[in-house]
Amino acid sequence: MTNSFSAYSPTWCPGCGNWGIGEALKAALTQSGHNPSSVFLVFGIGCSGNMNDFVNAYTIHALHGRAIPNAIGIKLAKHKLPVVVIAGDGDLYGEGGNHFLHACRGNHNIAVIAHDNRLYGLTTGQVSPTAQKGQKSKSTPGGIIERPLNPLTLALTQGATFVAQAFAGDITQLIQIIRAALNHNGFSLINVLQPCVTFNKKNTYEYYLKRVYKLDQKYDPTNYTLALQKAEESLNEKFPLGILYKDIKPNYHQQLKQLSKETALVDKPRFKNFAILLKEFA
Ligand code: SF4
Repeated sequence: MTNSFSAYSPTWCPGCGNWGIGEALKAALTQSGHNPSSVFLVFGIGCSGNMNDFVNAYTIHALHGRAIPNAIGIKLAKHKLPVVVIAGDGDLYGEGGNHFLHACRGNHNIAVIAHDNRLYGLTTGQVSPTAQKGQKSKSTPGGIIERPLNPLTLALTQGATFVAQAFAGDITQLIQIIRAALNHNGFSLINVLQPCVTFNKKNTYEYYLKRVYKLDQKYDPTNYTLALQKAEESLNEKFPLGILYKDIKPNYHQQLKQLSKETALVDKPRFKNFAILLKEFA
């Protein structure tokens, strides 16, 4: 990732999957006709979240686990603005797990790009919810006991209407998927398999290159049952890449009467007479 969008260069470790995801994001936004003021990016805390400093756009570097509620708030206030969340697996599925599942349920019209490296890279490699059972780390010297959380299954079963998986080593496909997610009306998850070359010595580029495969041309992304089957393949260490599921449903703000006339909340007259409300407590 060059610093053409920002005054700062990335601080990621050489070879980190974040580089590929960062390049794909910039390319997808540019190819979709966006400029730094036509899109809002919300970053979580973590190595991926540090991209906040490397991209020149409207951004928020949210509190840990709180990227999604920030994104939902921005979307409700200015619902015509595309809003993208960029965060790690620890931030999205750990600290922010509750926000994640409720955003799926609501079909909020935001795109979420998860940098899934199966650990907390910024704090030097502790296991995250997607860590494979038995993975050893500083926080789990005897190996993690819990079974891994499956982000694809979670998103599908909670109502997300666009669920995809990508690999940080395949920028071309990732660009296509991000562009499709930007065009989707509703909640989009792109879970990106992202090697952390410094702390994850198991889920490396070589590991994924032996186990990823692209969904073929005949794959039907409207088939929910098939999508669930594909999502569960990670139990056998197989990782389908592409759009697993896509559905057409009204998003959250389209079902709000307050926004039915297409006027963004930020453009509506401000409520000023708080005395009326205070009187109710008198
Ligand atoms: Fe990437 Fe891991 Fe380095 Fe963080 S610690 S920048 S995730 S390689």
